[in-house]
Amino acid sequence: MPPRLPRSLPSSHSIASTFSPGSSTPESWTVSPWNRDTPDTSPPSSDAGSPKLQAKQADDSGRISPVEGSLDGQPRFGVVRSICFVGAGFVGGPTAAVIAYHNPQIQVNVVDLNEERIKSWNSAHLPIHEDGLLKVVRTARDGALDKTLVLPGLPRAIELKQRQPNLVFSTRVVDAIEEADIIFICVNTPTKTHGIGAGSMADVSAIESATRTVAKHAKEGAIIVEKSTVPCGTAQMIQDILRYYRPDVEFEVLSNPEFLAEGTAVENLMHPDRILIGSAQTLAGLRAAAVVKDVYGAWVPAARIVTVNTFSSELAKLVANTMLAQRISSVNAVSAMCEELGLGADVEDVSLAIGKDARLGSKFLQAGVGFGGSCFEKDILNLAYLARELHLDVVADYWLAVLRMNEDQRRRYARNVVRELNGSLRGKKIAILGFAFKDGTNDTRNSIAVHVIKDLAMEMPREIAIFDPGCASAEIREEVEKAGLTASQLERIKILTNWRDCVQEASAVCILTQWKQFRGRKLGSATSSNKKARKLAADWATSCVADKADISEMDILALEELVRDKSSATTGDDPLERLAPLAPCPEECSHCRIGSAEAHDQEPVDWAEVAGMMQEPRWVFDGRNVVNRLELQSLGFRVRGIGKGF
Ligand code: NAD
Repeated sequence: MPPRLPRSLPSSHSIASTFSPGSSTPESWTVSPWNRDTPDTSPPSSDAGSPKLQAKQADDSGRISPVEGSLDGQPRFGVVRSICFVGAGFVGGPTAAVIAYHNPQIQVNVVDLNEERIKSWNSAHLPIHEDGLLKVVRTARDGALDKTLVLPGLPRAIELKQRQPNLVFSTRVVDAIEEADIIFICVNTPTKTHGIGAGSMADVSAIESATRTVAKHAKEGAIIVEKSTVPCGTAQMIQDILRYYRPDVEFEVLSNPEFLAEGTAVENLMHPDRILIGSAQTLAGLRAAAVVKDVYGAWVPAARIVTVNTFSSELAKLVANTMLAQRISSVNAVSAMCEELGLGADVEDVSLAIGKDARLGSKFLQAGVGFGGSCFEKDILNLAYLARELHLDVVADYWLAVLRMNEDQRRRYARNVVRELNGSLRGKKIAILGFAFKDGTNDTRNSIAVHVIKDLAMEMPREIAIFDPGCASAEIREEVEKAGLTASQLERIKILTNWRDCVQEASAVCILTQWKQFRGRKLGSATSSNKKARKLAADWATSCVADKADISEMDILALEELVRDKSSATTGDDPLERLAPLAPCPEECSHCRIGSAEAHDQEPVDWAEVAGMMQEPRWVFDGRNVVNRLELQSLGFRVRGIGKGF
């Protein structure tokens, strides 16, 4: 049995304080269940004490410390010159890139143990596909050219200075940590798969491991920031590990959870709803929070930066994800009722009606086949686990119902496919359009598609063909292979690189991701809200930027919008032509090879053409309500959307 937690967590106490370092090393602390059965992901080089650190410790002159003494005896933090991100994943990479982009005076090092990932970050083929990310990375990683701009609407020419590179991706974990004034820990925190808490508790072994490396090598006065999503109390665990290795040094540990959503990561980072910083409510903690606040202050308005205590910050992240998921499950519950009522009730009408209520708002009210991805499920499990450990069983069950609803929604979807195809898929081909857990990302982790495919594969169809315009075939294959299918079921699954091959001779098409290509040919251009934002930025550039002595990256973004606003031609990612040309890939570049072999089809689906390619009865099971149902019906399709009671 895991140790029971105290009934309540006083603010100075936490789950992590169940650690009792005593005389053993942190590796052998066994009191906390977090510490068990988990692999050590520390780089081998971190096992030995750093020579540079030893030299620093030997040097008591204090010259190398960024901490400046102060009259009140509390540390004041010096100017931030170097930031290190540990973990170059979906969060670490984009967040570091945006921070570097807006703070050209700060050196930002992003380190990871995964050499392949780092290689990708250093190439033209980033490991993560997000709109606008390559441009941000190139600007900060490769620098930008100097430019004289003469733009329509501006009274005078604007000189843009050359920008030096300040973003480095590398595997040199120790070097980057040693240099850093702020260290963001952005490593993975999946759900535990074995041992105590398997299937519900967060596995923080990567955090522990990264912290040990940080503890051994960070310079005195470095601020440690947990960016990963973690159980409440993890900052205290980090603090305990730091104290164990460096008992004579006080480090401040902050919580700064990330709220970006994959698919819109750059937009979310550039214009965050809020930045949340949690710190100890001591003078040193508040000062450390102010330093991190300053880094974000380069582009985020002060009113959007919220500072709270560390535990509130950790808890807020879990609650935010759980409540977002809860909205999806709530509207999906309504969709099931609409379908069963059979009286013409349409969940989209219901969403529209309730979303107009200012108390509810319109976001996250789109019914669908359910939510997937690497975050919602694990964070709900994490929150429910905490509630259970606090003996709050009703609370835990309440949160877990969000997950049960989600599971039921995707099962119901698969059941409906089988039922509409006369109760059997034998001899039939099913086309799956969309595998990514949402549009705009190449992330396949815990995608809804894999669960639906598994349920359909149990029915032994002739073939299940999968096409996704954003995901690499190898990654789809890897996820499908993890689903626990038999060899015979796996043999029937084909991954294709264009929609035509996917739908050819299929009896049914299942749309599982909301890619805009699946809507059909009439996609429309920039939305009116995009145009409005562009106009606002252009107006601002015209009125303010020309008079400024120092042009910031925010100003440059506004100038880019000005060019887009005034230009009739398509301007691309770099309308000011300021980016340094990309270094050509080596001849043997596997990404170029795979890219040209796969050449994922970005062409919108032509439903009229699809109608001629499919077999009767031409079912479309629209799991994301993306197609125009009436239009498809007029082309001879039978269409079943989500929450359409007719
Ligand atoms: P990820 O798996 O994409 O990236 C984590 C990276 O950390 C990996 O590349 C791994 O190699 C590296 N790593 C692990 N241990 C390391 C060590 N000791 N030293 C150096 N590198 C190490 O994960 P992610 O999606 O970026 O998520 C990271 C954290 O952020 C998680 O806690 C997640 O819950 C949270 N989060 C994720 C999202 C999202 O949309 N993906 C959004 C908000 C928060």
